[in-house]
Amino acid sequence: MDIIERFIRNPELGKTEYVELLRASEDRQAAHRLAEEAVRLRKKYYGNAVYVRGLIEFTNYCRNDCFYCGIRRSSRGLERYRLTEEEILSCCEEGSRLGFQTYVLQGGEDPWYTDERLERIIRSIKEQYPDCAVTLSVGERSYESYRRLREAGADRYLLRHETASEEHYRRLHPAEMSLVHRKQCLYQLKDLGYQVGAGFMAGSPGQTYAELAEDLLFLRELKPQMAGIGPFIPHHSTPFRDEPAGSVELTLRLLSIVRILLPRVLLPATTALGTMDPMGREKGFAAGANVVMPNLSPAANRKQYELYDNKLCTGDEAAESLADLKKRVEAAGWRLSMERGDAAEELEEAQKA
Ligand code: SAM
Repeated sequence: MDIIERFIRNPELGKTEYVELLRASEDRQAAHRLAEEAVRLRKKYYGNAVYVRGLIEFTNYCRNDCFYCGIRRSSRGLERYRLTEEEILSCCEEGSRLGFQTYVLQGGEDPWYTDERLERIIRSIKEQYPDCAVTLSVGERSYESYRRLREAGADRYLLRHETASEEHYRRLHPAEMSLVHRKQCLYQLKDLGYQVGAGFMAGSPGQTYAELAEDLLFLRELKPQMAGIGPFIPHHSTPFRDEPAGSVELTLRLLSIVRILLPRVLLPATTALGTMDPMGREKGFAAGANVVMPNLSPAANRKQYELYDNKLCTGDEAAESLADLKKRVEAAGWRLSMERGDAAEELEEAQKA
């Protein structure tokens, strides 16, 4: 049996076999076979639903200096902004009017948002929209901080591990950051009962199949409820400005592989994928993705949250264009769902209780 079928039958492979799988998936027919199985599994657990999350990019200040990121500390020529509690709440109000039930608060690692400030924001959102899910994506914080934010009502946390290879992690980040700490944060978040999202960029500088195999092994070990996988896209004011972007095709193969590895995972067709290809999201759904995250940030700030060049923030990417997004999702054969859309295992547990 070839490696593709072996993986489909039993996704628990060793590192060298994952490398072999990744190499074999370059073949169009093999990629097609993986996508077919990925779609079968996402349909089994989630039907045709594509879940919608409202993304609120609330600060572009960041104390970190990740070499790939457009809002890194050393990025110049970038106007920095922070949303006030009122502004964040009015994004949620707009989201609620549109029917959103999940708010993702994402930002750089900005110490201005102390635990007290974030707690207040989370509590206010939960008070006004008790049925919604609040997802945080604000980087590495202490266990105590994660505990307090969870206690305040945060349900989910997105923290991509970025790469599970020590050497590659050092190539992407300055010396003061560490993979060990990043992974520790993910385990702490799980321990605190968050639904956790890990993930990585496809085609980041220096990434080979060996690194990607490590990512697959790490995802299998962590078993996150969500996985964010999008292409790396260079940003003009970062050290990686001249590096090639990751490809759409590699991203799609990885989406299928991760769906097969973690069948119940919530897998977004990312903005980066939509930026690289006008049909990127549709291709993402056909490869196994089942989440979209339209932008609910105030229109005036969207350009300023520029993680990479030409990042989409209008058109169907914008929450205001929900009706257009719905049409596109339906035209591709899926159903746009405004439900909270918890990970399938959570749903099963809730039904048992
Ligand atoms: N600061 C938080 C953190 O570190 O998790 C959340 C914000 S961070 C900007 C969100 C994600 O953007 C990162 O995890 C990274 O994978 C992605 N990202 C940053 N720069 C990118 C680039 N040039 N191309 C594609 N994705 C990028």
